[in-house]
Amino acid sequence: MNSYFWINIIYILSAAAFIWGLKMMSHPDSARNGNLLSAVAMLLAVTATLFNQGLEFEWILIGAVIGTIIGVFWAYAVAMTQMPEMVAILNGFGGLASLLVAWSTYHFTPRSDLFTSVSTFLTVLIGGVTFTGSLIAWGKLNGVFSAKPILFNGQKWFNTGLLVLLMLAGVIYCWHPAQSYPVFLGILVLSLLLGVTSVIPIGGADMPVVISLLNSYSGLAACASGFVIMNSILIVTGTLVGASGIILTQIMCKAMNRSLSNVLFSGFSTAKKKISGTVKGEIKSVSAQDAFLVLEAARSVVIVPGYGLAVAQAQHVVRELGELLQKNGADVKYAIHPVAGRMPGHMNVLLAEANVPYEQLVEMDNINPTMDSVDVCIVVGANDTVNPAAMTDKASPIYGMPIIETFKAKTVFVIKRSMNTGFAGVENELFYYDNTRMIFGDAKDVVQKIAVEFKGL
Ligand code: NDP
Repeated sequence: MNSYFWINIIYILSAAAFIWGLKMMSHPDSARNGNLLSAVAMLLAVTATLFNQGLEFEWILIGAVIGTIIGVFWAYAVAMTQMPEMVAILNGFGGLASLLVAWSTYHFTPRSDLFTSVSTFLTVLIGGVTFTGSLIAWGKLNGVFSAKPILFNGQKWFNTGLLVLLMLAGVIYCWHPAQSYPVFLGILVLSLLLGVTSVIPIGGADMPVVISLLNSYSGLAACASGFVIMNSILIVTGTLVGASGIILTQIMCKAMNRSLSNVLFSGFSTAKKKISGTVKGEIKSVSAQDAFLVLEAARSVVIVPGYGLAVAQAQHVVRELGELLQKNGADVKYAIHPVAGRMPGHMNVLLAEANVPYEQLVEMDNINPTMDSVDVCIVVGANDTVNPAAMTDKASPIYGMPIIETFKAKTVFVIKRSMNTGFAGVENELFYYDNTRMIFGDAKDVVQKIAVEFKGL
């Protein structure tokens, strides 16, 4: 049995480990180990590849060492709220890597069969769009570029024209790959341009959905490059990333009650929108000490975290308050909205970091039917995800978005710094409800003050 046989055996084992790892990531208990398993499988697959066909891997090793140092340093340095930015740029590099694989194969070991030509074309197209699209997404998130959608007349036609041009160039290239180096370079440049022009019209606040989509593209580019160099593990991993990215994109769109085309083409921005309808009622604000008096008597408490919890880094004090409430005899749950925060699973990750027991985390669909019997809901930096206008106001931009129905609880405490709107830019009816009390302040400070009161009991 030759090395080719053993390398393929290792590839099959790695592929099985990837799939198993992905499955483990579907539950918080096993997610960390799932991630580790997939990483080990990737190391195994890469190591096996290095033994392939007498590769001179000195340069690859130097690259791997430098990449590992940068990656480890960066992963530790990045703040949790910057995670979408990091994912964006890593997706971009994934797309670029696939593009370079296809380009170097075409340049150094050209093959003129139709299958390789089509794979090369698709790799460059998808990889190019992923690279520049991800750079724009990264820039919009960290403020290098304006987060506002950049719109111009005839933009959709311009992008459609670019795509048609790319397809025509693709046909010419695939027809005569050996004589089409200039056409190939044209495809490369147009693909990079398409990445830019298709992401600039999207508002910064929609970037997490775009990043999830670009993540899927980076997988598809890797898969196509796997066909260029006939590497089965690249095809398998690329397909897994492509499929999981598109599923995640769909989940996010569904949780926001928006279609993917609405996200990509509507120019939904971070700019504050005018409130639809008139919110009536009076704001009733209380102090942390007043809230403590109500919470002391509560038998069931639901904590609803949102983006403000991430901004305030209040997860540890929230866990502490949860424990104090439990000690005081209350049943404590955390209600998790699928798009609370600014990235998928944002709240789960923060609460897991603070060691909140997984069994206390309840998905929106499971907590809502119990909300009538809850004594107190504490909304910590959440806004859109608890806005009843999503159920009642047909004119609201968030109408139809599923929410955590906190308004059904006997008392609702909302902790935030001001009356500012959330991501969607709409005013929140909940703040005016009879059973709502606002506690203004930074989430961490306010929760800390309530916890101090409990400690003094
Ligand atoms: P929102 O963005 O609706 O609201 C967050 C609130 O937190 C703000 O109103 C803000 O009010 C408050 N806040 C900010 N900083 C602090 C602080 N230090 N202390 C206390 N409060 C603070 O958050 P939600 O989580 O409810 O909703 C998420 C939104 O993001 C949804 O509209 C969702 O569609 C969208 N989205 C989510 C994605 C995801 O993957 N999770 C992806 C893309 C979009 P104030 O300034 O007054 O303090």
